Amino acid sequence: MKYALVTGGSRGLGRAICLKLAQMGIPVLINYQNNAEAAQEVKRLVEAENATAELMQFDVSSKEAVETALNRWENAHPDDYIAYLVNNAGIRKDNLMFMMPEEDWHGVINTTLDGFFHVTRHLLPKMMMRKHGGRIVNMASLSGLKGLPGQTNYSAAKAALIGATKALAQETAARGVTVNAIAPGFIETDMTKNLPQDELKKLIPMQRFGKPEEVAALAGFLISDAASYITGEVISINGGLYT
Ligand code: NAP
Repeated sequence: MKYALVTGGSRGLGRAICLKLAQMGIPVLINYQNNAEAAQEVKRLVEAENATAELMQFDVSSKEAVETALNRWENAHPDDYIAYLVNNAGIRKDNLMFMMPEEDWHGVINTTLDGFFHVTRHLLPKMMMRKHGGRIVNMASLSGLKGLPGQTNYSAAKAALIGATKALAQETAARGVTVNAIAPGFIETDMTKNLPQDELKKLIPMQRFGKPEEVAALAGFLISDAASYITGEVISINGGLYT
């Protein structure tokens, strides 16, 4: 069976993507870091869609944790492989750069960029060997395209992820593995719940934050067969916010 792995699948965009993939009939591995209860709830919802779900706890920024979890799963599933990967886990630690603690610089970059590297590198050989239908979707951000003040760490991490998306897409294209990035604007999740929504909405032509399901629909499309000739792209989903 071909499985999907969604990092940061316990909440927000990752949760909505797990449910979208379940609706597409794809078995889902739900990664999370700390929030076992939320991940368990996503598993229940995926199963309610009659799809297979498994929880997979690991910190994407830890090479050892990633290797241990993926090796364990592969040993338990000799006839299955992970064909679809959504690198979605991410955090923000906003601050003006002159006040930014070193751990907040590294924490954000390690989660987004090293996380992408550890998980993707592990899964690439099998995806490329099968030569057909592999999909990698990286969750970037408007911040990585435009740069946002107070987010030098986050903008740097997401811009780097976009560069890696474009480079990797060219490495894997001949093997039928597509690699694309999604760049959301402001979406209603835990990550944005403390932002001044009323002020920010005024900047958005659609005058509202996006919903996780709207991002999940795009991720589902990029993973579907219908998107087989799209690779190396960064697709914005931001209600018309100028980038
Ligand atoms: P969220 O609601 O804060 O959820 C974050 C998810 O990532 C949780 O499932 C969390 O797991 C997981 N996670 C965090 N650090 C992790 C780590 N080291 N290892 C494994 N999992 C980890 O965030 P979100 O808004 O859904 O954001 C999802 C992605 O979209 C992020 O990459 C974010 O940068 C990007 N994005 C979001 C927006 C937005 O407006 N919301 C806009 C642009 C881009 P636990 O539940 O275990 O903590």
